[in-house]
Amino acid sequence: MNRTPVPVTVARGDGIGPEIMAATLRVLEAAQARLAIEEIEIGEAVYKRGNAGGIEQSSLDSLRRTGVFFKAPITTPQGGGVKSLNVTVRKTLGLYANVRPCPAYAPFVATRHPGMDVVIIRENEEDLYAGIEHRQTDEVYQCLKLITRPGCERIARYAFEYARAYGRKKVTAFTKDNIMKMTDGLFRKVATEVAAEYPDIAFEHWIVDIGTAKLADAPEQFDVILLPNLYGDIISDVAAEIAGSVGLAGSANIGMNCAMFEAIHGSAPDIAGKGIANPSGLLLAAVQMLVHVGQGDVATTIHNAWLRTIEDGVHTADIFDANVSKQKAGTDEFASAVIARLGQSPNVLKPVAYAASPSIEVKVLTRARQKKEQVGIDVFLDEPNVTPEQLGKSLEQLAGPDFRLDMLSNRGQKVYPGGAPETLCVDAFRCRFISTSGAVSTEQVIALVTRLAKAGHPFVKSEGLFTFDGEDGFTKGQGQ
Ligand code: NAD
Repeated sequence: MNRTPVPVTVARGDGIGPEIMAATLRVLEAAQARLAIEEIEIGEAVYKRGNAGGIEQSSLDSLRRTGVFFKAPITTPQGGGVKSLNVTVRKTLGLYANVRPCPAYAPFVATRHPGMDVVIIRENEEDLYAGIEHRQTDEVYQCLKLITRPGCERIARYAFEYARAYGRKKVTAFTKDNIMKMTDGLFRKVATEVAAEYPDIAFEHWIVDIGTAKLADAPEQFDVILLPNLYGDIISDVAAEIAGSVGLAGSANIGMNCAMFEAIHGSAPDIAGKGIANPSGLLLAAVQMLVHVGQGDVATTIHNAWLRTIEDGVHTADIFDANVSKQKAGTDEFASAVIARLGQSPNVLKPVAYAASPSIEVKVLTRARQKKEQVGIDVFLDEPNVTPEQLGKSLEQLAGPDFRLDMLSNRGQKVYPGGAPETLCVDAFRCRFISTSGAVSTEQVIALVTRLAKAGHPFVKSEGLFTFDGEDGFTKGQGQ
């Protein structure tokens, strides 16, 4: 066993942060966690000094140096110009995987789903969270959903490696690939490809709406759930809530070179300074961190002592229930109760046993690039005062000889040729031009856009229509 202390960057945060961090560090020390702590300041004080991200460059340098960030919650000031610290850290350090275990602790913590033991693995960097938004016209706003093959591959591999390392049996992916055939379709396709490399782990896919309904109704049917960013954001809170563990849950944000561990709750300013906050979420995040840095032995000792404390009815006010709790403990008392039980295991709840060294390694395979050809272009025009019929006829005159007008769509719905009179048309039209001779050159595309502009059609943007190894890299218009 490696006894060299592992460098870790620690931030005590705002509100209840300093109280729960002090309690947690006391438990880590008593359990002889082998950590060399570097402290940094983040959050409210840093924002107030005018730093929009809530974290100084020197602190980011510390994170890069240690590669491990143990973070208490912070208070995010309200108002414009302030950027989410979590998003800043995630994006700067490439923390692509969010891992949130959501187990039930019945009968000691109230839940309707006593058999639930779900781990949510959420892609953390892509999807609608790329933050690429534009106002295209007077009436239309747009947010780009970006899903990449390497991004899908990393998160899918992480989910299967996690399942293997933690003795889990099944990975379930949720997507909406019946509607978003290209983006969510890629997420599902890559997850299915990766699943084939892990025959020891079962794999299934649910459309996100029915999957979420099933999760809320019968969460014990699920094991590891693999999700794109937006669905993961929503469903990870649903899962923690129905497990009864929203105040008890920790989460890990994992990158190739760096990882961040924190409780899922916020800085709880309403109870700050009162010594009554529950340190469990942060302590369980510390358990995830210890496993990550190869101290599964210490993680096992702490987690089992914590389970025993919960089982013995030593509860902080937030989970105190006169029917099951035996002692109402403050933050420090609770930490002392955990310390007193180091070396003990739970009797009713299932004890944990973590492997001594970390075993999750994710490699993204390189693959041959596919042959890409441009076969057309979608041109987006700002046209407030025309009918689809008028616009279609005008554009048909301007299309040739290199292109033909394939269709116009408005809010994704085909409106020309042959649109339905009921379709509401706003001022942004997508005009699809397809090459008359197979592939088109950039020069031909530019010449088309120039013709449209000269004829008085206000240009907003364009998207190339490409094929990859002969397969269309674009969807048809709805109704086409
Ligand atoms: P919150 O999670 O801080 O509090 C919600 C409720 O839960 C409050 O009643 C609080 O007292 C209670 N609670 C939370 N943690 C508790 C604990 N450990 N023990 C006992 N009770 C606990 O959410 P909020 O009030 O919406 O947000 C407060 C601040 O935290 C905001 O500034 C928000 O931006 C920030 N926040 C930070 C993070 C983070 O740093 N990761 C996450 C969420 C919210």
